[in-house]
Amino acid sequence: MLASLAGKTVIVTGASRGIGRGIARRFGAAGLNVLVVSRNQSDADQVAAEIGDHASGFRADVSQAEDCHAMAAAAVARYGQINVLCANAGIFPGVKLADMTAADFDHVIASNLRSTFLSVSAVIPAMTKAGSGRIILTSSITGPITGYPGWAHYGASKAGQLGFMRTAAIELAPRNITVNAVLPGNIFTEGLADVGADYIAKMADSIPQKRLGTPEDIANAALFFASEEAAYITGQALSVDGGQVLPESLGALEAMA
Ligand code: NAP
Repeated sequence: MLASLAGKTVIVTGASRGIGRGIARRFGAAGLNVLVVSRNQSDADQVAAEIGDHASGFRADVSQAEDCHAMAAAAVARYGQINVLCANAGIFPGVKLADMTAADFDHVIASNLRSTFLSVSAVIPAMTKAGSGRIILTSSITGPITGYPGWAHYGASKAGQLGFMRTAAIELAPRNITVNAVLPGNIFTEGLADVGADYIAKMADSIPQKRLGTPEDIANAALFFASEEAAYITGQALSVDGGQVLPESLGALEAMA
């Protein structure tokens, strides 16, 4: 049983759907005040309403510095402090290298990596004032560990988050702020709802636990990194993937039978 985080405040970016929504709901259920952030105010408000009176929506494009500063200011104005940042917002448009433009590349890096830097920078003053803080990045197995055709830019952004994390963890350690990352495998979100049962079954088949992950699986790992009990853990990357990256070949999966 982890110590209660009730009354603390978390900012969750990219919380209008998918993994971020799952993180926001899990932290809300644990009693934290939740600032639910996305580029769409009404979607953010809707998730906040699902959580309750201790949550509220905020519109921000986290690839923009002014928006990130406004986001941090809103959390302080509404809840008095910032204790946890879940930097989760991200995009994953697929385009093969032969067709990828510099604009495609820059857009993904700005949305996934620059946004990580900007979100983290924005919360440092409030966490320093609070005397401690927890920062949890949503990276991916794609990039740090694996590759997937169409996602060279995405993989670079997700691996880049881990490079950023390691130096941030060192720099922020004297302020009692930890920085860790969750690396989701294939997670079943609303975005996968219409790909069809056959496709889902094929994805599940490549995972030793034979199921896709859920947003709650990722949220539970994030909540652990946010806990008092994780105080001495910083700069670490945790795969939450049902063992997806473990098989060395298709033969390894077939040999499970
Ligand atoms: P999703 O369902 O598409 O949700 C993405 C969220 O990010 C939305 O709330 C979106 O809201 C927000 N967002 C995107 N760009 C933003 C920006 N510039 N500023 C503010 N908000 C922004 O994606 P997901 O599958 O939940 O993925 C969430 C994170 O997990 C991403 O970082 C992704 O790389 C990572 N991940 C996902 C999986 C998976 O299997 N799903 C696996 C590995 C890693 P608006 O569009 O309203 O702004």
